[in-house]
Amino acid sequence: SYPVMPQMVSNEFPGRRAQEVIQRALQFQSPTRPSVKGRIVVESGYGAGIQDPDGNILIDLSAGVAVSNVGRNHPRVVAAIRDQAERLMHSAGLVNETTVALAERLSACMPEGLRGECFTWFGMSGSAATETAIKFAKAITGRSQIIAFEGAYHGVFHGSLALTTRENFREKFGPLMPGALHMPYAYCYRCFVDLKYPDCGVSCAKYLDYKLSTPNTGADDVAAVIVESMQADGGYIDPPVEFLQMLREICTRRGILLIIDEVQAGAGRTGKMWASEHFGVVPDMMTWAKGIGGDLPLSGVTVHKRYQDKLPLASQVITGAENALANVVALANLDILLDPQDNLIERAALFGAEIKAELAAIAADSAILDDVRGRGFFIGVELVADKATRKPLEPKRVGAILQRCEQLGVRIMACGRYGSTIRIMPPLTITKAHFREGLRRFAQAVSEVEHAQIPA
Ligand code: PMP
Repeated sequence: SYPVMPQMVSNEFPGRRAQEVIQRALQFQSPTRPSVKGRIVVESGYGAGIQDPDGNILIDLSAGVAVSNVGRNHPRVVAAIRDQAERLMHSAGLVNETTVALAERLSACMPEGLRGECFTWFGMSGSAATETAIKFAKAITGRSQIIAFEGAYHGVFHGSLALTTRENFREKFGPLMPGALHMPYAYCYRCFVDLKYPDCGVSCAKYLDYKLSTPNTGADDVAAVIVESMQADGGYIDPPVEFLQMLREICTRRGILLIIDEVQAGAGRTGKMWASEHFGVVPDMMTWAKGIGGDLPLSGVTVHKRYQDKLPLASQVITGAENALANVVALANLDILLDPQDNLIERAALFGAEIKAELAAIAADSAILDDVRGRGFFIGVELVADKATRKPLEPKRVGAILQRCEQLGVRIMACGRYGSTIRIMPPLTITKAHFREGLRRFAQAVSEVEHAQIPA
């Protein structure tokens, strides 16, 4: 019931027309990357395929950036937009039933503990959702500090960027929001104190408790802990179950709010609607974006009703938010994700496990592909220069792999502290054949770089 991509081809890449578009972008659009290399121009999409203006079709193992969870141009989504556009596109400050319906629908599919007991603020980007969650936490608690984690990505505005630890994103923009602290995330592959799970007793979570109990450090002024249920840009990390559970317990015991960021891991990607459901942890507030609005800009903060009276919601509206087109797209996306016939979320859980096993077999035969981890279609693979020391693969060689992938007709992205983790996150609608073909091309690129057919 979802579109099938035509047979994939890959000619000269990037071709002449794509290069022209890129040159125009570099002249008139704030450049997000300085070079023509590695920039894909997308003209149209089919399921998990993207086509550039020269007719090259690539398998998109990134779903945008974990955005197009139901694939591109899903007919049910397209029909919903068409139907709504003919009636009303945006209510701008007025009540519209599509917003109400989406808030109700989200409430119904929240994890148990929030389900039916929450309300939602709507925005247009994950960054905006983080900003709002920070403000809500301050208003609710009357405190001012926010704790995030090493490797976190929560957005690019002054508050959300203060919680994001990517140095190249932050430099030149200081001072950012004061009162942002960072604790170690449970990145067990490269543990910050070289311990091994489970013998470590999840020391990283314990360190948070230790920090909060240190007198005269402002620990009693902490409003919230914000954490990605599964850390995304920081390295596609699947933390031990206890990690999030311990954070929940520490926050509850100390009267601190727990905000779970489901922007990238949510919307069915990990094999459950929300990744936090794997850990049995219920947040006080959840931020979401990407896969819920899919190809339209939509985000939100969903908050437990117990805090309703503490929030001055009327003054926190963004003019472009609560957009009727975005709302009906989100409703259609949720219908598609939760459709019992296709069962896309469960399918991602099962098929993702198969893919992980296949990747682990590829990694076993490779000197530079290591740890394969994740859940559902949220899979991380480490690229290393040396498996014994886990030294990250040099950026030049990672770049060569990504570029070769594009030439071979597969789009794949890296992430992580050293930019050396490959993240695999296709649309949940991808066919098994396309997923495997994408991986075959990726494995070929890795093998070519490993065996130096491509110079380092
Ligand atoms: N949180 C997480 C976990 C994210 O992955 C991102 C985007 N990479 C954001 C927040 C920010 O979302 P946006 O780019 O829509 O502002």
